[in-house]
Amino acid sequence: MERFRADQHVDTLPEVSLDALARAGIRGIVVDLDNTVCAYHRPELAPGVAEWVAAARDRGFALVLVSNNFSERVALVGAQLGIPVVPNALKPLPFAFLRALKLLRTPRRATVVIGDQLFTDVLGAKLVGCRTILTTPLVAHDFPLTRVLRFLERTLAGRT
Ligand SMILES: [Mg+2]
Repeated sequence: MERFRADQHVDTLPEVSLDALARAGIRGIVVDLDNTVCAYHRPELAPGVAEWVAAARDRGFALVLVSNNFSERVALVGAQLGIPVVPNALKPLPFAFLRALKLLRTPRRATVVIGDQLFTDVLGAKLVGCRTILTTPLVAHDFPLTRVLRFLERTLAGRT
């Protein structure tokens, strides 16, 4: 169960203290895209994200965006933030995290993964031995689940 427990919780990415990361010996930062940096399927950055990333880069942190999304959007957001990307990540499988660690050139224990999902970001990070910070999803992305539940409701009510 330890694998499903983040080391720290924050509401939003810009709330992550760069001072605290530096004090903890962190030098590499893996950031999730959907619902961490941008609202689900939206192109625009959430408030404060660009400034936080710029501050982290200025301080010498290495950053990489790792996303299960495969759209051009991942590359566009990476370019906007000036950091490399690993799309099609298939988190929580370890391949993309290992690729990210190579890009960052930081040891696993000096690397933190920041994202909004336990089953992808936190579990995947734990599997490769990185630190983890769980964010609150920018937008509740239960839309597909909501649709399934509504379908079940209709079925049970005999309305399909
Ligand atoms: Mg996410």
